[in-house]
Amino acid sequence: MPVGLVLIGPPGAGKSTLTGALLDRFHLARIATGERLRAEIAAGSALGRAAARHVERGELVADGLIDRLLRTSLDEIPADTGFLLDGYPRNVHQADVLDVVLRDTGRALTAALSLELPDGEVVRRLGGRRECRGAGAPWVLQVDDAAAVARCRAAGGTLVQRDDDRPAVIRQRLAVYRAETAPLLDRYRAAGLLRAVDATGPPAEVEARAFAALSPAQ
Ligand code: AMP
Repeated sequence: MPVGLVLIGPPGAGKSTLTGALLDRFHLARIATGERLRAEIAAGSALGRAAARHVERGELVADGLIDRLLRTSLDEIPADTGFLLDGYPRNVHQADVLDVVLRDTGRALTAALSLELPDGEVVRRLGGRRECRGAGAPWVLQVDDAAAVARCRAAGGTLVQRDDDRPAVIRQRLAVYRAETAPLLDRYRAAGLLRAVDATGPPAEVEARAFAALSPAQ
């Protein structure tokens, strides 16, 4: 059975950063609903137009739209290839849909990785978060990381702050996470799938903890 991972954690916990390392290690296909939504919004598609208002406010996009996005994204992945879901599921309904879709397509989750980060650290990280754009695939960095900023500029990139990384929206996204997404942790714990990872500290340390949590000995 191919690997099937869901990555759960508050905004800013480092899901996208960790994703890169996990994809390399396990050769997975990635489905990142937030990233796909931002691309749809930038392209001005019907989905993007329907989602934009919610994303700007830090609210969840309507389940019906996201359900379709999940199904089409999973359909694009060959059945024998493992997958990693970044940013999905985000509420109980989505977790139910995921169970059905996986069963229908003969797949299964093998682990739910929970990145744990205190609220104060979430606010600090998101406030300093920037994307390096215009130099290959966009990547995320902290504005006070001088070496990363220099690397971005040297490659011809510019630093861009996400619209939803403003303080009022950060607070809203965090509230949504605690109210709607965090309850999923109990569900995956009960199913024996939960692997909790301390997400404080530099990315390399979080990555090492995540690999240890996913190792078969655990
Ligand atoms: P992210 O990049 O994962 O932080 O997602 C950014 C925004 O996209 C979120 O604040 C939501 O507005 C929206 N979004 C992403 N994934 C989902 C999802 N699974 N369900 C509903 N809304 C989502």
